[in-house]
Amino acid sequence: MAYVYDTQNIFAKILRGEIPNKTVLETEHTLAFEDIAPQAPIHVLVIPKGPYQTWDHFAAQATDAEIADYTRAIQAVVAKLELSPGDDKQGYRLIVNSGEAGIQEVPHLHTHILSGKVLGRMLPG
Ligand code: 5GP
Repeated sequence: MAYVYDTQNIFAKILRGEIPNKTVLETEHTLAFEDIAPQAPIHVLVIPKGPYQTWDHFAAQATDAEIADYTRAIQAVVAKLELSPGDDKQGYRLIVNSGEAGIQEVPHLHTHILSGKVLGRMLPG
């Protein structure tokens, strides 16, 4: 699989500091920031700093350090915002849209963290 990364995508511009963001958490390899059009009371996007288009691209080609950092950064956001089941906000959902079938709007891997209300069923119908 030949993965192609568009360096002009909006999250690449955020990482280069060309577009502002509301940062929730930053680590060596990962940035978490608020979604500009939240779909729930809490809607955070978590992106690797490296140039990875999709989840499978990241899983195939990122270093172990990047993958560990990304996974732990998602956990750190969940902990910081007290989203873990049993905490005040009682749980959350992670979504990673990939490609056309997943309706991925921005071609830089991002995990959506959604919480702050009961979110409804995973898929419509
Ligand atoms: P996707 O549909 O690709 O899974 O999700 C892309 C997300 O990026 C959407 O939820 C959208 O609101 C968010 N988004 C798009 N442009 C910007 C931006 O410039 N800043 C921020 N913070 N979020 C953005």
